[in-house]
Amino acid sequence: MTEHRQVVVVGSGPAGLTAAIYTARAQLEPVVIEGEPSSNSDQPGGQLMLTTEVENFPGWPEGITGPELMANMRAQAARFGAELVTAKVAKLELSQGSPFSVWLTEDGDEPSYSADAVIVSTGARSLMLNVPGEVELLGHGLSTCATCDGFFFRGQEIVVVGGGDSALEEAIFLTRFASKVTLVHRRDELRASKIMRDRAMANEKIEFAWNSQITEVHGEQKVTGVTLKDTLSGEERLHETAGVFVAIGHVPNTDFLSGQLTLEANGYLHTHQGSLTSIEGVFACGDVQDHHYRQAITAAGSGCMAAIDTERWLEARSTP
Ligand code: NAP
Repeated sequence: MTEHRQVVVVGSGPAGLTAAIYTARAQLEPVVIEGEPSSNSDQPGGQLMLTTEVENFPGWPEGITGPELMANMRAQAARFGAELVTAKVAKLELSQGSPFSVWLTEDGDEPSYSADAVIVSTGARSLMLNVPGEVELLGHGLSTCATCDGFFFRGQEIVVVGGGDSALEEAIFLTRFASKVTLVHRRDELRASKIMRDRAMANEKIEFAWNSQITEVHGEQKVTGVTLKDTLSGEERLHETAGVFVAIGHVPNTDFLSGQLTLEANGYLHTHQGSLTSIEGVFACGDVQDHHYRQAITAAGSGCMAAIDTERWLEARSTP
C-alpha cells in the first residue's frame, strides 16, 4: 500500500535531520528515509558517523563525538514527530511532478510513498584507498577530513594521500598542527593547481613521497604506520606515521536519482535560489549539492533552508 506524505526526506546526515526537525515543527509530519547501516559514510547519520570528536559544531564547547551528535539530531527530529525509516530509497519517480513516487525496494510495483515534496540530502562519500587496515582504523588515526581531525595530531608526523587541490589544501592546513606532513602521491606530478603546488612546495613542513601508493595501513587501536609501494620499482617499505588523511576526492550520492535532476559539471546536484532543484517540489541540501564547504554546520544550515523552502512551496500551492 502506498502511503501519502507531505514531505519525504532522503538521507539523515546533519542536512536531512535538520530539514526533518524544521518540517516536523511546521506540522508537515515528514518521513526520513535514513539509509542502512554500512561501514562507510553511506549510512544513517552520514559522514559524521565515521569521525570521533567534533570540536567545531557550535553549542558544544567541550566537543561531542560525531555519532553522539547525530544521535541527538535524530532524537530531536523524532521528538517533533518525524518518522525515521531505516531503509534506502531504491527508486524515485520525479518526472511526472508532484506528488512524487518513492520506492524502498527495487521489485515493488506500488511505490512505498507518494510525496508532495521531496528533500534530497544523501550527502557525499569520500573515495577510499580500499587497502587492508583502512576500514578498521577509520576514526582511529585515519581520517577523510583535515578540518575535523587535524587538531588531534599536534606535534606528530602524518601522511596525506592524493595529488589534487584537496590533498594539498589539507596538507597545508595540517602543517599548523603536525610536525611533518608527508604527501603520498602515486605519480611524480601533482594534479593540483599551480598556486596550490607552489604553496605546498614552499612549505618546509611538507615532504613528498612521489610515485608511492599506500598498500596497507598498520595499527591495532590507532594508526602506527603505512606500507608504501614504489609504483615504478614495486619495492615496499614501512613508513611510520601517527595519522593518515585520505584526500583522493569525493563523490556525491546521486545514483538513485537516475539522472532526473540537473547536475553540475562535477556531478553534484545543481541548486538555485537556496535549495531549489531542476524539478519544482524537489529540494536539495547538504553535501549532495555542496562540494565547497562540506562542513556539518553548513550542511545543517542548508537543511534548514530546504525545510523553509519546502514549507513555503507547499503553503503557496495550497493557497488559492
Ligand atoms: P581530484 O582533483 O580528482 O584529485 C584526486 C587526486 O587523488 C589525484 O591526484 C589522483 O591521482 C589521486 N587519486 C585518485 N584515486 C587515487 C587512489 N585510488 N590512490 C591514490 N591516489 C588517488 O580531487 P580533489 O583534489 O578532491 O578536487 C576535486 C575538485 O575540487 C577539483 O576540481 C579541485 O580543483 C577542486 N578543489 C579546489 C580547491 C581549491 O581551489 N582550493 C580545493 C579543493 C578542491 P592522479 O593525479 O594520479 O589521478
